[in-house]
Amino acid sequence: MKQSYAQVVVDVPTQQTNRPYTYLIPSELADQVRPGVRVLVAFGHRSVLGYVVNLTEELPADLKEEQVKDVLTVLDEKPVLSKELLTLAHDLAESNFSYWVSFLALMLPTALKADYRKKLTALEGLSDEDRVTYLDGQQERLVKTKNFTAKGWRAIRELQKEGQLAVVPVIENKGKVKTVLAYQTNADHEALEAIQEQLGKGAKQQQRLLDFAMAHPGQTFSKQEWLSQLDTSVASLNTAVEKGTLKKVQVEVKRRPDSVSGSWVEQEKVLNPEQRAAYDAITTAIVKKKNETFLLEGITGSGKTEVYLQAAQEAINRGEQVLFLVPEIALTPQMQKRVQDRFGDKTALLHSGLSAGERYDEWRRIREGKVQVVVGARSAVFAPLDKLGLIIVDEEHEASYSQSENPHYSARDVALWRGAYHHAPVVLGSATPSLESRARAQKGVYQLLTLTARANPAASLPKVDIVDMRQELLDRGDTNFSQELLDKLKEHLGRGEQAVLMLNRRGFSSFVMCRDCGYVPRDPNCNLAMTLHMDTRTLKCHYCDYQEAIPQVCPACGSRRIRYYGTGTEKVEAELKELLPEYAVIRLDQDTTRKKGAMAKALADFGKKKAQILLGTQMVAKGLDFPDVTLVGVLNADTGLGLPDFRASEKTFQLLTQVAGRAGRAEQQGEVVIQTFNPDHYVLKFAQNHDYEGFYRQEMQIRHAAEFPPYFYTIQIQCSDLDESKVALQTAKIAAWLKKRLPEDVLVLGPSPRSIAKMQGRYFFQMILKMKKPNEADELLRDLVDRSQKAEKGFRLEVRRDPVSFM
Ligand code: ADP
Ligand code: ZN
Repeated sequence: MKQSYAQVVVDVPTQQTNRPYTYLIPSELADQVRPGVRVLVAFGHRSVLGYVVNLTEELPADLKEEQVKDVLTVLDEKPVLSKELLTLAHDLAESNFSYWVSFLALMLPTALKADYRKKLTALEGLSDEDRVTYLDGQQERLVKTKNFTAKGWRAIRELQKEGQLAVVPVIENKGKVKTVLAYQTNADHEALEAIQEQLGKGAKQQQRLLDFAMAHPGQTFSKQEWLSQLDTSVASLNTAVEKGTLKKVQVEVKRRPDSVSGSWVEQEKVLNPEQRAAYDAITTAIVKKKNETFLLEGITGSGKTEVYLQAAQEAINRGEQVLFLVPEIALTPQMQKRVQDRFGDKTALLHSGLSAGERYDEWRRIREGKVQVVVGARSAVFAPLDKLGLIIVDEEHEASYSQSENPHYSARDVALWRGAYHHAPVVLGSATPSLESRARAQKGVYQLLTLTARANPAASLPKVDIVDMRQELLDRGDTNFSQELLDKLKEHLGRGEQAVLMLNRRGFSSFVMCRDCGYVPRDPNCNLAMTLHMDTRTLKCHYCDYQEAIPQVCPACGSRRIRYYGTGTEKVEAELKELLPEYAVIRLDQDTTRKKGAMAKALADFGKKKAQILLGTQMVAKGLDFPDVTLVGVLNADTGLGLPDFRASEKTFQLLTQVAGRAGRAEQQGEVVIQTFNPDHYVLKFAQNHDYEGFYRQEMQIRHAAEFPPYFYTIQIQCSDLDESKVALQTAKIAAWLKKRLPEDVLVLGPSPRSIAKMQGRYFFQMILKMKKPNEADELLRDLVDRSQKAEKGFRLEVRRDPVSFM
């Protein structure tokens, strides 16, 4: 049956255009237009990129034949998006107040992002001067919008009107395939025999190549292969081409990220009884093709990864594929190697260190079905796998699974969606699950699996000491090191062991703390840390907008030493050089790891014991497994607690648990020293005892009392503008508009300035909605997004579901 019309979602991300448009498929394109291919279509007065989401035979009733335009060209030979991903993009746009096309574009590698250009062609009558200005003196030129100012473009349109210049839009496919020179043997035996007769006696090389060609007719090998395998030279190969023995061809090579090398090879371990129970539950679901969600709660080093890898093996043995998500920061070379050792060439790695070309090629390997396991960070959740049998989300509590920029989405939720689509089990794993996931396991929505002991029988959890820095500062003056941490460093390093030191900088300097008692001013309504505003000399709550003057004396202890707390890794490194000059330090932070491969090198050096101390930000907390690290020091546990975020305690507990888990992973007993100004804080107590369950129960009570997640769902509405008073006014209007229309049980906090109130010249205000049912406000919020598009230029509004950060 003939399918004459294509439903196309156009690359115009607005609320008004957020639906498929109907285009006629010209008969010459009938074979090429399929769901999931990209096409070029006319839209208004422009040509734009579009995604075919469906084919129909009949014209929709509300359209007339003459209204329908043609599909102009097809950009892809094969669909770039499967039916699953087309549907997923639609659902994500719906639930995240965004546009279908934004998600369609997001799912493709950057190499396939549309590159809009215009081709300018000189016509008769164009002056030489204009030719130089607009065409760079050439007859034809490809330009981007940014090549000319608005005034320049006006002049170009003028010339176009006068017929001196042609302007044609071009959309380029940037997905370039990399090829190399190769030589193919002649398949025609008679031709080869003819060459043989012509060959002189001395032509030994040519004779060898000829013999080889006769034995391997029509086969292609890259230049490199010819040179290394046949011990020949480029000159001989080219002579063989002249004679007709060989033919030069270009063959595609897929760019692969360097595989990680290392001296050890990861072997499968014999699972202990707890691991076995988890493995059995997961593999039973794999075999039954049952979409079940497991929460694998296992202390650090309990062998969660081992369970993932063996369960993955089971799915692969059954001919299915595995998606293994890991937070970017935990996708260490060690982790990559572990997976590659098990699954070899059938693995694809997607992480931010890849070049656009490497990413494009990895993506195509996956799409072509050559891959069985995809390991990657957040965006890997969109990997084009068709036979998913298992999805793993490691460190499921990590905030980095949630994309805060537009379009907003949570990779964890996408994983659950895809699991349901493929009838595949999903494993969420963590030593410190998010309260949301843990609560769902409590209710039986997820099946809880627990690992309570370290997998290596010789290893035990480290002993954790809490050091009160208030006293230390009194005794020892301004320093980042307590006497206890210093003594322990000398002791452990003296034995030839290694130490990891973490400076928690998840803070930002604009919060206030008393240096004597650790008191952080909180607002009376929300009980959240308030943010310092130097311009107005006030402290503000960024949820409800309560404000008060910055205290001169501490309301808790009367001290005058109220200040903002902040120190940097560089400063600590300098202090270490003075205190412990005999030990080398490797520093790991955003500055030292900017260069590609720098992080891998630093970690490899630390593994080879070129340094005894690894000092860094949160980067050192996750995923590292060094057997000789026996001491972990947290220099400032408090900064995270001071953040104006209802998850401040949860995030701090997670971080402390993670970093403590780096110590004593092998035979030697590990120790952890946590320095703090709040030694009595419940987060520190639970972290000290490795007591996630205790923390969970206490924190749930607090969330319940304060009506925060997981008892309530939150939605953040964020407005910004270049003009501060405009956005303040507009946000207040929106709040009033919402309050009039929202169901009564939806609570509105704010509007108030965001913690980071100004960014890139824009001023941000936010409101937070709290509700019992997740979709209660959806309709109204979609209407709001729609209206916001008609607002004055400069104003922007974003709506985020379940935000993980309020900065
Ligand atoms: P997690 O992912 O929970 O932090 P890992 O899977 O990385 O834990 O395991 C921690 C260490 O214990 C690793 O070195 C791993 O090789 C080892 N290990 C895991 N399972 C076993 C087992 N059953 N027997 C012995 N060692 C194991
Ligand atoms: Zn408040």
